Amino acid sequence: MEIPESVKKIIRTLESSGCSAYAVGGCVRDKMMGIEPHDWDLCTSALPEQVLSALGSHNVIESGLKHGTVTVKVDGQLYEITTFRTDGEYLDNRRPESVTFVTSVEDDLSRRDFTINAMAYNPKDGLIDLFGGMDDISSKTIRCVGDAEKRFEEDALRILRALRFSSRLGFEIEPGTLEAAKKKAYLLKNISAERIASELLMILDGEYAPRVLIDQTEILSVILPEIKAMIGFLQYNPHHIYDVWQHTVKVVEYSPHGKVYRLAALMHDIGKPDCFTRDEKGIGHFHGHPELSAEMAVKIMKRLKLDNNTISEVREIILYHDRRPPADKKGVRKFISGVGKDRYLSILRLKRADAKAQNPAMLEDKLHYIDELERICEELTENGEEFSLRTLKINGKDLISIGISEGRQIGTVLHYLLDLVVEGTVENDHEVLMQEAKKYAATHN
Ligand code: ATP
Ligand code: MG
Repeated sequence: MEIPESVKKIIRTLESSGCSAYAVGGCVRDKMMGIEPHDWDLCTSALPEQVLSALGSHNVIESGLKHGTVTVKVDGQLYEITTFRTDGEYLDNRRPESVTFVTSVEDDLSRRDFTINAMAYNPKDGLIDLFGGMDDISSKTIRCVGDAEKRFEEDALRILRALRFSSRLGFEIEPGTLEAAKKKAYLLKNISAERIASELLMILDGEYAPRVLIDQTEILSVILPEIKAMIGFLQYNPHHIYDVWQHTVKVVEYSPHGKVYRLAALMHDIGKPDCFTRDEKGIGHFHGHPELSAEMAVKIMKRLKLDNNTISEVREIILYHDRRPPADKKGVRKFISGVGKDRYLSILRLKRADAKAQNPAMLEDKLHYIDELERICEELTENGEEFSLRTLKINGKDLISIGISEGRQIGTVLHYLLDLVVEGTVENDHEVLMQEAKKYAATHN
């Protein structure tokens, strides 16, 4: 196994002070799968103080010293070096009451979550694989180290970690491990929102997310009970050939990577079941579903303690995902003036994914329409005709100078003028807009 020079250097340094050290966990797994690791973690028999003194010449950050972790900077790269440890008793399904430093790598490997994550390597001893990690890589299997139920009871977050690795690597969860995961999934209630959110985002972003979303609804609905109503919910509508959940999963599949798109895709139709009606011909409709979905999504994202920027971007994409402006300059100008150009383009990307997840018979027309919306936006940008309050040739100060001084009214008048420009009724010209503002003021006293 080829490992970076700086990792070798750290291992050699620790060894020369009489300790053992290995690359461990995700980097070994990735390397054995032929994937370039995004970082290299090490484990060692050296106690944190020994690591500090052995690596004294290097740049050391005493980050998680309590838990035995020292971060060093070698050749500009950060490496986490963790002392071999076993975990004490788990009382809260989250973290051990204490950790005990130990001297054997075997003990350290046995506390790790899955066999594929519980391998260590160094040039001297080669690969240390005590739990069949290599076999599980070959058969693409995620399997707990030791008794699965016990491992999930200790730390319920591991249940979502199993889904994360399944989504990223395309591995199946071994039946016994999966059964235990389902049985213990209720313990996720004890896990903090932040840790759940971070796993969920990784699950959504994985290459194999669609399969996990379809196969693991039982576990996912523990953290997102709102999805239950979507599963198997038939749409009775010619635009659709899938139920709401199958459709949703396909939108996730077709949407770009990144948390905003993936969250928006996951929740864009989450309000549909509650908006369902059927007309006299038996056709299903979901009036008001973008509004309800946006509202539900905000609630869920707040519950998951996601940041406000993410919440507001996702909300807006969901809210406007079903808006269909006329594919002409006026229609597009209006849309952009409301949400801004960046958000408009994000909305189109979700629309594209949404269209691909609907009835293929109508796909070509829908994509053509979205292409047009995109092309017109480009044209507006090139011609400087993409209007927003920012590009309007009049501002609040101008209005104050003609006696419109109350804050709220300034806003109203600016939006009124923006609408006139967007509609093409008046030109975006300072003098013209001043005249219009005066007219408005005169008629609204
Ligand atoms: P990634 O490529 O996503 O970083 P990773 O395997 O490195 O994957 P991390 O979350 O960075 O995952 O954890 C590093 C290693 O620490 C894991 O490979 C595993 O051996 C161990 N580990 C992490 N979290 C847990 C946990 N909750 N329970 C048991 N072992 C864990
Ligand atoms: Mg890692």
